[in-house]
Amino acid sequence: MIYYKTTDEIKLIRESSLLVSETLALIAGILQPGITTLELDTKAEAFIRDNGARPSFKGYRGFAHTLCISVNDEVVHGIPSKREIKNGDVVSVDCGVYKNSFHGDSAYTFLVGEVTMDAVNLAKVTKESVYKGIEMAVVGNRIGDISYAIQNYAESFHGYGVVRELVGHGLGKSLHEEPEVPNFGARGKGPKIQEGLVIAIEPMINLGTKNVVQENDGWTIRTKDRKISCHFEHTIAVTKGKADILSSFEPIEIAVKGNKNLYQEAETVS
Ligand code: MG
Ligand code: MG
Repeated sequence: MIYYKTTDEIKLIRESSLLVSETLALIAGILQPGITTLELDTKAEAFIRDNGARPSFKGYRGFAHTLCISVNDEVVHGIPSKREIKNGDVVSVDCGVYKNSFHGDSAYTFLVGEVTMDAVNLAKVTKESVYKGIEMAVVGNRIGDISYAIQNYAESFHGYGVVRELVGHGLGKSLHEEPEVPNFGARGKGPKIQEGLVIAIEPMINLGTKNVVQENDGWTIRTKDRKISCHFEHTIAVTKGKADILSSFEPIEIAVKGNKNLYQEAETVS
């Protein structure tokens, strides 16, 4: 069943979600060639605990880390390791935080140094597709309207591959609650969107085909064709009939602008 949240509960989920955003901003500030994904993870965990919270992912179904860091052809669920970030890498970082009994969940894809135009365009379209979905999260619509908007934009309009195996989700006292929020689907289908709905909208978009495989580590999902993939995620609440974005890319993008090791957009896109 779907747990609709009260105004007070949404306030707490916003607090958790903004701590996720601040954590991703911290990562944006220190990401550079030569740093290992494990170093990023250690910094993120310390920051979250210093802020009176705990990482949502650590211990979740046996996952041993704070962040999922997925590089290049890795889509999601990449395990932090001694792997060093290189110039030209596409680095998706997913983070969850548990504070005051509620989770927040958000993800951002960073472009390190001199990246391909394919990477720049894919990241841009993936981020935009999150907002295409968010626009449809209004009372009167159904979850399928969100799904369709994302798929239509990324796949039909831009020709990218939309991952089917992993989907967005409700969240609150649990990291993953009903309903599922697929990034593909039909308009007018699925649960009705109602006041108090809290969901994570998180398209995973591939440069090539939609097909993915799981690595032998039991976690990492990568593209079957080994082409790059991007992942952006916001936690949102439906209040006063429409979507209120509880996480924020603003602190992340300020940190990106201040880090000369990351690709800089010619123009501000947020
Ligand atoms: Mg996430
Ligand atoms: Mg999520």
